[in-house]
Amino acid sequence: MKYFLECTKCGMHFDEKYKRQVCSACGAILDVKYKKFNFSSDRKKEGMWAYEDMLPDAKYRHYAVGGTKLLQSNENPDLFLKLEIQNPTRSFKDRGSVVEISKCLEYGYKEIVCASTGNMAFSIAYFAKLNNIKSKIFISNDANNDKIKDIKNTHSASITKINGDFNLAQKFAEKYAAKNNAFLAGDYCYRKEGQKTVAYEIIEEAEPSNILVPIGNATLIYGMLQAIKEMKDAGAIKKSPKIIGVQAELCSPFVKAFGSGKNIKYEKPRTMADAIAVGYPTFGDMAIEKLRKNQGEAVSVTEKEMMQEQQAFYKEYGLVAEMAGVAAIAGFKKMNLKGKSVAVISGGNV
Ligand SMILES: [Zn+2]
Repeated sequence: MKYFLECTKCGMHFDEKYKRQVCSACGAILDVKYKKFNFSSDRKKEGMWAYEDMLPDAKYRHYAVGGTKLLQSNENPDLFLKLEIQNPTRSFKDRGSVVEISKCLEYGYKEIVCASTGNMAFSIAYFAKLNNIKSKIFISNDANNDKIKDIKNTHSASITKINGDFNLAQKFAEKYAAKNNAFLAGDYCYRKEGQKTVAYEIIEEAEPSNILVPIGNATLIYGMLQAIKEMKDAGAIKKSPKIIGVQAELCSPFVKAFGSGKNIKYEKPRTMADAIAVGYPTFGDMAIEKLRKNQGEAVSVTEKEMMQEQQAFYKEYGLVAEMAGVAAIAGFKKMNLKGKSVAVISGGNV
């Protein structure tokens, strides 16, 4: 095995046989640490699997995830749109789910559990069903009801709606996993490893000066910042692209903490952009630290700005994105960025 797990709080180490993504000593989230890391993409493999060597070892089945299109914006030739809506369940979450499902199978679990505002549940339930694993989902009251109906009907997941927000749903999922010997999936280290591949793809294809990315639980931005550092340290790139995190103004604990220099403070989500309605991002403080080193920025966008971009995206390209999915385009318009920029169109489930 080429990696081990390290607790982000107490520093305890676990080897690859450890079956959980949270620390048994202190309960904090773990991170994947590679013993040796070389960056080299394998062009013979499709999609995210070109980067399989940079993922935690597992018997991966090469589902058609990643390798999504980078579309030049009709509005601004300096802006490119990374269409994560082309993934099997129409969001970037699939990149993380295939890593988690592989680990779940490797450890012999029969059931997988997660908390979600919608897209993660979609993705987990989809890949769980494909592999004959039962899925249990705790849904917060910020979740999108249409998404939930689909998850239940199409992917036969067992769904429990809780009266609370995403962070409470996450606590329910953690308790359920411990009690029922289910694999706890969600915004943890294995998912983050899969999701970082979106940054590898963008950088190898476009070498942009800036990448704009929406922030919910901050797993994606953290993974992307990690990917940039990995590429830089391995000598695969000379200059790091600047990362700009984008949140909804009505749920922007990350942007506020980044601006004030303090730690993240919980904020009750009021945005309709359900995919980024997270009041206390799990990877938030860790991502802020990395974002500062990257000399990146964080910006918030209004509900109206996201809705306008959603309409414009549909009219211009004939493609459906959700509000969170176009937050990065709205963010781009608020900034005065120089050089080539890429906006991650994170999800298209409405
Ligand atoms: Zn610990």
